[in-house]
Amino acid sequence: MRTSVIGFPRIGRNRELKFASEKYFNGEITEKELLETAEAIKNENLLKQKEAGITFISSNDFSFYDNMLDTAVLFNVIPKRYKDLKLSGLDTYFAMARGYQGEKGNVKALAMKKWFNTNYHYLVPEIDDDTKIELIGDKPVKDFEAAGKIGVNTKTSIIGPFTFLKLTRFTGSKNVHDVADDLINAYVQLVKALEKKGEGLIEFDEPRLVMDLSAEDKELFKNIYNVILESKGSVKILLQTFFGDIRDIYDEVVKLDFDAIGLDFVEGRKTAELVKFFPKGKVLFAGLVNGKNIWINDYSKTLSALKDIATDEIVLSTSCSLLHVPYTLDGEAGLDSDCKAHFSFAREKLSELKDLGELFDTDFEKDERFIRNKLLHQGRKNCMDSAVQSAVASIKPEDYERLPKFEEREKIQKDKFRLPLFPTTTIGSFPQTADVRKNRLEFKKGLKSKEEYIKFNQDKIRECIKLQEEIGLDVIVHGEFERNDMVEYFGENLSGFLFTKNAWVQSYGTRCVKPAIIWGDVARKNPITVEWSKFAKSCTDKPVKGMLTGPVTILNWSFPREDISIKESTLQIALAIRDEVLDLEKNGIDIIQIDEAALREKLPLRKADWYSEYLDWAIPAFRLVHSKVKSETQIHTHMCYSEFTDIIPAIDAMDADVITFEASRSDLLILDALRENNFKTEVGPGVYDIHSPRVPSVDEIVTALTKMRKKIEDRKLWVNPDCGLKTRGEDETVKSLKNLVAAAKIIRG
Ligand code: GLN
Ligand code: ZN
Repeated sequence: MRTSVIGFPRIGRNRELKFASEKYFNGEITEKELLETAEAIKNENLLKQKEAGITFISSNDFSFYDNMLDTAVLFNVIPKRYKDLKLSGLDTYFAMARGYQGEKGNVKALAMKKWFNTNYHYLVPEIDDDTKIELIGDKPVKDFEAAGKIGVNTKTSIIGPFTFLKLTRFTGSKNVHDVADDLINAYVQLVKALEKKGEGLIEFDEPRLVMDLSAEDKELFKNIYNVILESKGSVKILLQTFFGDIRDIYDEVVKLDFDAIGLDFVEGRKTAELVKFFPKGKVLFAGLVNGKNIWINDYSKTLSALKDIATDEIVLSTSCSLLHVPYTLDGEAGLDSDCKAHFSFAREKLSELKDLGELFDTDFEKDERFIRNKLLHQGRKNCMDSAVQSAVASIKPEDYERLPKFEEREKIQKDKFRLPLFPTTTIGSFPQTADVRKNRLEFKKGLKSKEEYIKFNQDKIRECIKLQEEIGLDVIVHGEFERNDMVEYFGENLSGFLFTKNAWVQSYGTRCVKPAIIWGDVARKNPITVEWSKFAKSCTDKPVKGMLTGPVTILNWSFPREDISIKESTLQIALAIRDEVLDLEKNGIDIIQIDEAALREKLPLRKADWYSEYLDWAIPAFRLVHSKVKSETQIHTHMCYSEFTDIIPAIDAMDADVITFEASRSDLLILDALRENNFKTEVGPGVYDIHSPRVPSVDEIVTALTKMRKKIEDRKLWVNPDCGLKTRGEDETVKSLKNLVAAAKIIRG
């Protein structure tokens, strides 16, 4: 059986692209050197896939920053403000990705958004009235040729026109229909250019098809592809979809003249049912090797799924690009080899494809690879904890409800804390200066004793609290100096988690994350934050806010198990964090923030599934964490993206007492939605953007607060930055917070 890979990680085995790009941004290496790094990565990726025997290998999956951005630049969707900088091609590209501040001007970057249901982020192309869409670049053609030169015959993969248009922002008076013809024409030109070079198969990636589609969307899709397919000449076209099934448009898609159709059998719940009818004469690319998670494939399941498909023309494929998993397990010496046998990263997935392809064509039951795989699926060591399982099984409905009700608690808490109107606070972390990181690292490496490590952090906490008192903040935090990362820190203190050394996954541009792996049932091994918070409290008479990461975020930023549901795992984590909440309360911490920065991450792509598949258990899981605290204990939560305008009732149903969230970049639109929905929770919409070193002026903050007061009752409004301050410098942080407090005082006056 033939095999296909939709895309391969491009950051490099040891994040070479990240480091080279950062050096290039700092002027430490030349463009030529950066291009050389890129070429080495591309070549290695292609050759490894070829060596593994993959039939259909993608070119053009590489990107210096992001594939949506590549596609925009290819078709001249470059807003004037970037062209006006008159930079080189590569620097214009990076200006769009990261903004530009220098002698030639000062422009912000394009907006960035989450790529479907992943933790990858794409740059949002902008079409305005000046945009003239045409094929101006040749990256796909060059990449196809370059692959040919090293002996790899590739399929060119490119984001398809439908997805491209649907994800683009129209900032002028034009809409999709005004530009569709130009865009279609540009794609046709690209197909022709590739055909001329001998390209045989082009893969159009159209993940947008797995979301809800209107009648108008379907029309647009058909119009686009009728033209493209008519002019495809000798090139074959693969319509590749992923991240779900295409139930809304499957019937139409199979009637179009695609040569091949790629469907996701891992996340597409309806895919197996849809392909019961699959037209003769077309090839089915069956995405059965999970491109998003790191567990080894279940050969028995996959082979029987393949056997069930009622067409002979099948290519076995990854379910989506392998961009979303780490590069290789090779080098993860720290992982127990029994555990390691259960994992498969991008490189290992290539072998799985090859194995499965070969097994399918033989009498696999007796094949050693099949037998070994089967054994591995019979169980894993140390992943079951019966106490945890029975604790989850005995959760009762009332465990999800906090009493008394919000309104009553609000009164009790106002009486107790006696905070001024518009109370000021921060989101938790303070700048993680070099000495803070050094202290952690030296302790981890055994170069520092536990006592020295603790003493250093206590001094930091004391200093940080003194600073907050001087600045005049009302609710104090300890600063989070003991934490590397808001998920890893908790994971390390919970049983059931595993950590890797080098399993980086691209989140956006040069930024990568290293998700934890949830290996087994989760329980709290010991109190995690209590000593730090207690110490902080002993340093001040002001209220101190304890700081935890919530269960949904811990799950969403880890690789989840596949042997139990993510709901089950989340409830386990919720019970563990609940123990921590109750311990904090017992130790006198009466304000506790439970961060749910990534709450939206796994929100299903189809609206109809939002509640039934996700929010109906995710929101209760959050409530489970705090439902047992006393009425006078104030629960805060924090969310990073204010993109929750459409799920406001669910956010309110978290039943926190206060929520802080990012708002400064999103033109405060969310405030209208809060008002319309009668949002009960007290709110702190961030008054300035912490993602930039810029210090906001007092006036600016007063203006933001004045706007907020029009939509939010005074007694419910908190004053705080957008997010944690750990990536900021000390100097700008102090200045910004002083202005924040000054602004709150002016408004109080
Ligand atoms: N409490 C965390 C911090 O302040 C929250 C981080 C986040 O929301 N990403 O760093
Ligand atoms: Zn945040």
